[in-house]
Amino acid sequence: MKPLIVANWKMNPTNQKEAGRLFNSLKRGLKNVSKAEVVICPPFVYLGGLKIKDLSFKLGAQNCSWQEKGAFTGEISPHMLKDLGMKYVIVGHSERRKIFQESDQMAAEKLKAVLKLNLIPILCIGETGEQRKEGETFKVLEKEIKNGLKGILKSQIGKVVVAYEPIWAIGTKNPCSSDDALTVTLFIRKVISQIFGKKAGKNIKILYGGSANSQNSRDYLKEEGINGLLVGGASLNPKEFLKIIKQI
Ligand code: PEP
Repeated sequence: MKPLIVANWKMNPTNQKEAGRLFNSLKRGLKNVSKAEVVICPPFVYLGGLKIKDLSFKLGAQNCSWQEKGAFTGEISPHMLKDLGMKYVIVGHSERRKIFQESDQMAAEKLKAVLKLNLIPILCIGETGEQRKEGETFKVLEKEIKNGLKGILKSQIGKVVVAYEPIWAIGTKNPCSSDDALTVTLFIRKVISQIFGKKAGKNIKILYGGSANSQNSRDYLKEEGINGLLVGGASLNPKEFLKIIKQI
């Protein structure tokens, strides 16, 4: 299975010209790359303006509404994303949860809405530093998995990607060790197996995210249980992001 490398630009860059420049460098740099499946997730406002014909990578969104359309001011429907050619949608990112008070239940509704349109959801889960110190990592993750995947059918679970993103490691230059990330991904597989069966637990794609960069990416990707990376900060530097992919 090719590793899945997802770039989360977050709320960057702040103008269309720069976004276009970043996008074009990736387009050039990724032209002949076949070792990984790459997904770029720019802010919503840039999605419609990007020339997405003949891309060697896929595009995704960083969030979406669970509603299809209507009176939901400021929201973006998964239908709109599909119409623009998006293939992936990040759901339940810790910044959405913490800053915008999104709950597990909202993540579950979004996940269902995304799957309904045959888009691929990337469900983010992860514990805070405090929860880790208190030894609550597995408890937190189990809750986020069980609640986030509520209502998902056994026939749909194969489409879901889970990203383990320890909150204490995001944007901190303090990544989780690959050993610890592997231990957690094995736990995630166990929980998925309990809900959806052994095969689902074995096959589900699990990414690691949290200060991943070209210096540490190989440590994660060499682990059989880690199927790829969700990259924030390092994805804004095309050289750095391309290096992660080229050294696979
Ligand atoms: C993220 O927020 O999804 C992320 C992984 O960020 P960073 O790589 O900057 O830690």
